[in-house]
Amino acid sequence: MKIDVSELRKVKGRIEKFLGNEPDYSSEIYGQQTTFRNMTVAGEATNSGEGIYIHGKITGDVDLICSLCVKNYSVHFDTPFVETFYREGMDYPEDEEELLQFYHGEEIDISETIRESLQLVLPMKPVCSPDCKGLCAHCGCDLNIEQCSCKEEGIDPRLAVLGQLIKDPDKNSK
Ligand SMILES: [Zn+2]
Ligand SMILES: [Zn+2]
Repeated sequence: MKIDVSELRKVKGRIEKFLGNEPDYSSEIYGQQTTFRNMTVAGEATNSGEGIYIHGKITGDVDLICSLCVKNYSVHFDTPFVETFYREGMDYPEDEEELLQFYHGEEIDISETIRESLQLVLPMKPVCSPDCKGLCAHCGCDLNIEQCSCKEEGIDPRLAVLGQLIKDPDKNSK
């Protein structure tokens, strides 16, 4: 997405709002193909004198794959972004030169800033629902949908102890 700064850049202290759509964006993150869709970008650009300070919010949907049951699911997100752009060839804070973003002409392309903040939306371990039961480690069935009969192994060790107590009620009472 590009922001027209042809007027803004001429007047120090001027503030302009912007609103637009960002095209769908697919990327591979943590080894998973992920797509961001229906993105709306809203924010404000301020001519600070030194540069153009841009901040705003991206809302949209992101397609994820549950790390437990491998199902595709989507979640709605909103995430902030902020960046200052300096005009090429003009004065800028020299000590941070390598970290600075520059623009030239009458537009600022904020696509890269948007993509960076999208990375922050993604969970390290996506889970489709807090109660997702995942897949059975033995038969691979989706435990959210069916209950298989592979019960013995993979059971929580604390529960296994309980199971022993139930099977041998006398064993621990001596
Ligand atoms: Zn799941
Ligand atoms: Zn099973």
